[in-house]
Amino acid sequence: MEKSKRPQIIFIGAPGSGKGTQAKNLVESFGYEHISTGDLLRNEVASGSELGQKVKGVLEAGELVTDELVLELLEANCDLDNKFYIFDGFPRNDKQAMLLKYRLLKEKPCLAFYFEINLEELEQRLVNRRTCQDCGAIYNLVSKPPQKEGVCDKCGGTQLTQRKDDNSETVKTRLKVFSDAIGPMVEMYKNDQTLRVIQADKEGSVVFTQIEEHIKIFV
Ligand code: AMP
Repeated sequence: MEKSKRPQIIFIGAPGSGKGTQAKNLVESFGYEHISTGDLLRNEVASGSELGQKVKGVLEAGELVTDELVLELLEANCDLDNKFYIFDGFPRNDKQAMLLKYRLLKEKPCLAFYFEINLEELEQRLVNRRTCQDCGAIYNLVSKPPQKEGVCDKCGGTQLTQRKDDNSETVKTRLKVFSDAIGPMVEMYKNDQTLRVIQADKEGSVVFTQIEEHIKIFV
């Protein structure tokens, strides 16, 4: 793919709609960089940094940290003049969408993929989600379990863990926070003509094909 024509990519969708899995696919197939604000924040919490201590409770409750804080974290971790990113988990509301457009991307072309899915199915997806601590592969104990229980198919790692905020109570809050904010944000990308709607309730490979179709045209 000719680098100069590539759009920066934005993934918007409910928690558990498959953004992380598809971001990994795009990294492998098209050489994008994956930047997840959730991962950046969890790393801060795990490292015990001052920022991590400040946001720990917010993450555990499933609420949002402040827009400015996430923006600062992204500014510190992105090199938009030289790299092409998949923004996963940012923006989360229309204010963040404006910050992304005017403060981070500036004039750079972008495509916003909206992972459309029935929200009622997501609670079960999320509470059954497990992640390999060694390679980041994502499983679902019901719909996509590892071939051997507790062992990662990809790297053989034996630590398939559950995220702290993937419990039923926090998941309900996260889904509500999502549905309260999604409307105006989708509208904004629709008006900019950068919105691409993906049917995210399909199998992973089918979801990826839909995304790929929109990216291939930039080759
Ligand atoms: P995620 O991994 O995207 O599900 O995010 C996990 C948690 O990190 C969220 O429930 C929020 O507490 C926080 N978080 C992630 N991204 C953002 C964001 N763009 N704005 C505010 N909080 C965020």
